[in-house]
Amino acid sequence: MCLTIPGQVIRCSGSKAIVWQYDRAMEVDISLLPDTKPGDWILYISSMAIKRIDKKDADEIMELLVSKPPIEMGLLDSRFVWIIKESRVRDLKRDELIYLLNSEGLEKEALFREAEITRKAYIRDFICVHGIIEFSNYCRNNCKYCGLRRDNTNIKRYRMEVNDIVDLAVDSVNGKGYKLLVLQSGEDLYYTKDMLVDMIKKIKSKCRVFIFMSIGDRDYETYKSLREAGASGVLYRFETSNKELFSQVHDKDFSRRFEHLRFIKELGYFIASGSLIGLPGQTTGDLAEDLLTVKGLSVNMISMGPFVPCEGTPFGNEPSGSIDISLKMISVARLLMKKIRIPVVTALETLDSVNGRRLAMRAGANALMFNLTPEEYCRDYKIYPDRFIERNSLLEKYALFKNDGSYEMLEKRLQEVTNVT
Ligand code: SAH
Ligand code: SF4
Repeated sequence: MCLTIPGQVIRCSGSKAIVWQYDRAMEVDISLLPDTKPGDWILYISSMAIKRIDKKDADEIMELLVSKPPIEMGLLDSRFVWIIKESRVRDLKRDELIYLLNSEGLEKEALFREAEITRKAYIRDFICVHGIIEFSNYCRNNCKYCGLRRDNTNIKRYRMEVNDIVDLAVDSVNGKGYKLLVLQSGEDLYYTKDMLVDMIKKIKSKCRVFIFMSIGDRDYETYKSLREAGASGVLYRFETSNKELFSQVHDKDFSRRFEHLRFIKELGYFIASGSLIGLPGQTTGDLAEDLLTVKGLSVNMISMGPFVPCEGTPFGNEPSGSIDISLKMISVARLLMKKIRIPVVTALETLDSVNGRRLAMRAGANALMFNLTPEEYCRDYKIYPDRFIERNSLLEKYALFKNDGSYEMLEKRLQEVTNVT
């Protein structure tokens, strides 16, 4: 599903209308909305008006999508300006990424604007809305940062039945218009290869959707079977590119993590990956490496977000990752990988539930991930506490492209990222 910037109708003539979209006038076909009149706000795509929208809702969407003008370069630090200009013509190097990640004040603001302008230039004005279903919170691992770790006895564990997962997924696609769903769980071997294959096949037989699996470590054969059953992508973070840090926070082997990513790619999956921002002991140099690692892996979607402490874990008393550095990571990622999909993650919205989403969009993100997990389970999917969950959002309501064309467009865009970086 996608969302575009609304426009206001200036005048109508037959099936055509002239519409003002924040900085330009456009001729739009209004044959699908025949009672449209001057003053109305509408959403349109490829010059075809799709939906009328209240002024108040239009304002809210514009607040999220309309960019601010760039900051006058003459006011900025000369090395910063040089790096920004270089970013337009070549890939930045590690020390340049660190420089940008350390920017403050006017330079930081200019970094956000540059990223937003880059997003606009490369992937235009619309954002995509994806869904996530968290179907089990059982986990055999003991990651020090995560509330689902096996030693955490403070949470109530749940597993959804395969048929319930299928029904929810199908309803999210056929009923609401989602085109990409992430099916996520702890590393829960209760769901055998055959059960997962069955689940994917059932969903794919009833609706047209990209399924991204986020189930952690499984062997090559399992991922191969899931791919053959119709899964399109895998969401699997490497968490940190610093081997030593990884061994301190995770109980899995670092090189195995990358071996997994390699064979997942070889199997033809789209990949969503990235790191946790603000792990205890992590440096800005590590974060720059994380971005270079994402680029090196040619991932199609970056999944990265701030660490949020969770009671009942060894890191329960550590400070949260910073919102500021998370936003700068989004911007620098956008400059390094112009067409990549960058969803605003829940952890960021949890740390700043009022402004997190808007700030992330302003920093160059281009997708949102809505939580579709049934409420009775959602509160127990406690990788960290008090997660930001929004139901029946305005954005979900107005997201467009519910037709099949949007599936093909999404596929094209996912492919573009791997080919053009
Ligand atoms: N078990 C699977 C998928 C579920 S966890 C896996 O680990 O891949 C999904 C992501 O949640 C992890 O990759 C991790 O980066 C993130 N996560 C876990 N605990 C977190 C915390 N306390 N704060 C922020 N993100 C966290
Ligand atoms: Fe399990 Fe994933 Fe949490 Fe690690 S991050 S404990 S693998 S759910």
